Amino acid sequence: MTEREIRQVLNLTGVMPSRQLGQNFLTDAATAHAIVDHLDLQADDTVVEVGPGTGALTCHVVGRVKKVVLVEFDSRLAAALQEKFADRADVEVVHQDAVEFDLRRLFPERPIKFLGNLPYASGGAIMKNFLSVPHPFSRAVIMLQKEVIDRLSAAPGHADYGLLSLRVQSAWHVQTVMEVPPEVFYPIPQVDSSVAVLTPRSDLPAFDRRLFDELLRRGFGQRRKQLHKLMPEHDGWNSLIETLGVPATVRAEELNLSQWLTITHHFDDHPLKEIPQKGSEIFDVVDEHDQVVSQSTRAEIHAQGLRHRAIHVFVFNKRKDLLLQLRSKLKDNHPGVWDSSAAGHLDTGEDYATCAVRELHEELGITKETVVEVGKLSPSPATGWEFVALYAVQYQGALRFPCSEIDAVQWFPLAIIEEWVKKRPSDFATGFLECWELFGKTSAT
Ligand code: SAM
Repeated sequence: MTEREIRQVLNLTGVMPSRQLGQNFLTDAATAHAIVDHLDLQADDTVVEVGPGTGALTCHVVGRVKKVVLVEFDSRLAAALQEKFADRADVEVVHQDAVEFDLRRLFPERPIKFLGNLPYASGGAIMKNFLSVPHPFSRAVIMLQKEVIDRLSAAPGHADYGLLSLRVQSAWHVQTVMEVPPEVFYPIPQVDSSVAVLTPRSDLPAFDRRLFDELLRRGFGQRRKQLHKLMPEHDGWNSLIETLGVPATVRAEELNLSQWLTITHHFDDHPLKEIPQKGSEIFDVVDEHDQVVSQSTRAEIHAQGLRHRAIHVFVFNKRKDLLLQLRSKLKDNHPGVWDSSAAGHLDTGEDYATCAVRELHEELGITKETVVEVGKLSPSPATGWEFVALYAVQYQGALRFPCSEIDAVQWFPLAIIEEWVKKRPSDFATGFLECWELFGKTSAT
C-alpha cells in the first residue's frame, strides 16, 4: 500500500492515529513485502496478524495462504478490514484486544504463523498472550521498537540482556532480520524499529517453566544483588556454583540461559524430574480376558506388542474444559504430542482405579481419593496393546507436573478438541484418540 492509500483509509474511517494504540502505519510497500517474506509462507499455512491496521502487511499475505486471522483493537479499522475482505472466506477479522484473544481456538488451525507490526505500548502483553508455551505457532515475525527487539535477542554481557531475553529465548530462537527507519511510517515515530524472526526451540533439556520463571523474577527483581541472596533457601549452593563455573558473588545478569536451566534443575524438587520412564520397569502381561499371565519389562512388552494394562484420566474444570498434557519430547513413545490429562501403566499387582489415583498425583499433583470410571478399551495397535480404563474427575486448583514427562498442560473447551481431533489427529497420542471416541460415545448415551 502507498502512503496515499493509507491516508485514504484513515480519512474514510475517520481514524486519527492514536499514540496509545501504537498507530504508526507502514507506508513503504517494499518494507512491508520484505517483512512478510520472512514468514516463509506456504499454501497450507494459517496466519494470525495482530494489529493489521490499514492492511499494509495484510495485503502481502491474503491469497497466498489457507487462512488469515486479523486481530484489530480499533473498531473503525476492524470494520474497514471487514468490508474490504467481505467477499473472502479465507479472511477472518476479529475486533478484539489481542491481549484478551483466546489462543486455544487456533490449535486446530496448524500449521500456523504469527505476524505483527505490534503497538509499542502493549507489544509485551500481546507477545506474552500469543507466544508463551504452549502455543500453536511454527514461526513468528514481529516488528517492535529496536530497543525491545534488541532485548529479545541479547546475550549475557550486553546491556540489553535480562529477564525478557531469557523468557523469550527459553522458548524461541530469536533472529533480528531487519532494521526499519522511522521515515517509513505515518505518523513518523520517535524511535527506530526492528524485525525479528522467532522459531520454536527444541534444543533445550526439559525444565520446569513455572519454576524457571519464578527464579528469574527473584534473580532479576534486585538486579545488583548477588544471586545467592535472592534464591530460595536450599543446600548445595556451593556445589551449584562449582557446576556453573562462576564466582559465588555472581549476579543474575551474568548467567546465560544454559546456566539458568542448570539452576532451575537444581531447585526443582519434583521426584520425577530426571528420566521419564525406565525400560526396566516391570508390568503385568495379561491375556485377551485381561487376566494376568506373567510379568515382563516395559521395554519387552512394547517391543513384542504384549497385552498389558493402563489408565487414562480426563480432568475437567468447572467450565467443563478438559485438561490436555503435551507429552515431553523425551518420552519413548508418542513424544511431543497432546494426550489425556494423565495416563500411565499399572504397576504389577496394582488395580486400575488405584493406578488412576496415583498417576493423577504423580503427573499433575492432584490429590483425589476416588475417580469415576467412564469406560474401558480393549487392546489394539492404537492403544499400544493396552487394556485401558478411562476415568474422569473434576478439579479446580494448582497443577504441578514433572518436566521429564510433560512439556506443558492446557485446559481446552470440548468443542475445540472435537474440531482439532478431526482436523489434525496426528497432533495427539493414538491412545488419547481412542479414549476421546469412547468418551464421546458414553457422554452421548
Ligand atoms: N500492521 C499495520 C502496519 O504495519 O501498518 C499497523 C501497525 S500499528 C504499529 C499497530 C496496530 O495495532 C494498529 O492498527 C492498532 O490499532 C493495533 N492495536 C493496538 N493495540 C492493539 C491491541 N491491544 N490488540 C490488537 N490490535 C491493537
